[in-house]
Amino acid sequence: MSRVAYVDGVYRRHRDAAVHIEDRGYQFADGVYEVIAVRGGKLIDEVLHLVRLRRSLGELRIAGALADAPLKVVMREVVRRNGVVNGIVYLQITRGTAPRDHGFPKAARPILVVTAGCSRPANPKLVEEGISVITIPDIRWQRCDIKTIALVANVLGKQQAREAGAYEAWMVDAEGRVTEGTSTNAWIVTGDNLIVTRAADHSILDGVTRQALIAIIRREGYAFAERPFTVAEAKAAREAFLTSTTSDLLPIVAIDGQPIANGAPGLVSQKLRADYLAHVAEGG
Ligand code: PLP
Repeated sequence: MSRVAYVDGVYRRHRDAAVHIEDRGYQFADGVYEVIAVRGGKLIDEVLHLVRLRRSLGELRIAGALADAPLKVVMREVVRRNGVVNGIVYLQITRGTAPRDHGFPKAARPILVVTAGCSRPANPKLVEEGISVITIPDIRWQRCDIKTIALVANVLGKQQAREAGAYEAWMVDAEGRVTEGTSTNAWIVTGDNLIVTRAADHSILDGVTRQALIAIIRREGYAFAERPFTVAEAKAAREAFLTSTTSDLLPIVAIDGQPIANGAPGLVSQKLRADYLAHVAEGG
């Protein structure tokens, strides 16, 4: 089956799909995106993704993008045309095409691109043995809460992690506190079993997986705090893990090469992963 992408109102063969060279996404990273998991043919936590999308568009003052109802139709059609049962939908909205000038163009209208692709479940080894992360300075801007396509700092961080043989890089603010991973949110479980993740202020992206997991944590009655934690606190923690749409929840067993606790995935992480996967199995 050949892949199909939706580009500005038209379904095209993926290999022929293209935007204008003066698309402001291409020239200024002036746009936003979402990645939504597809499991068993369903779009997981779609409403939370659409709420975040509207917020991102509002913060960038991009008006006139396709409304939720037709957008849902397009996403389902792209999923259907690509035969995706388990995978992801990627959607991107830029401010549009206009002669290059930093200020907002008067005439441009938003350009929507939607693609979908299949993916396999996480490598069982990552779940059973856990993953490692490195820590790096957070060199991003001050509005990381907006899901913009301006990801070059994240790209450099992920590459640094790969070159260090790690799954992810945790970014660290000027006070030595972890913000988040390059494409994931960061969590620890302290020695007295408190689950901790940074509050969703302007320094992190409020992950949809993060939001769904917080609802589960509250429902299950775990001790939980939204507050920053330092790299030192993370290294001394009982457990650590990360969350994202494409990674679900993965236990972290080493930070900067230093084992967390006994160096094996923690019990709370494993239970939360199972609870999160049950939430996904129910369709989110
Ligand atoms: N933080 C960053 C910087 C991200 O790019 C992502 C996902 O792309 C996340 C966190 C996790 O967000 P979500 O759970 O919505 O996938």
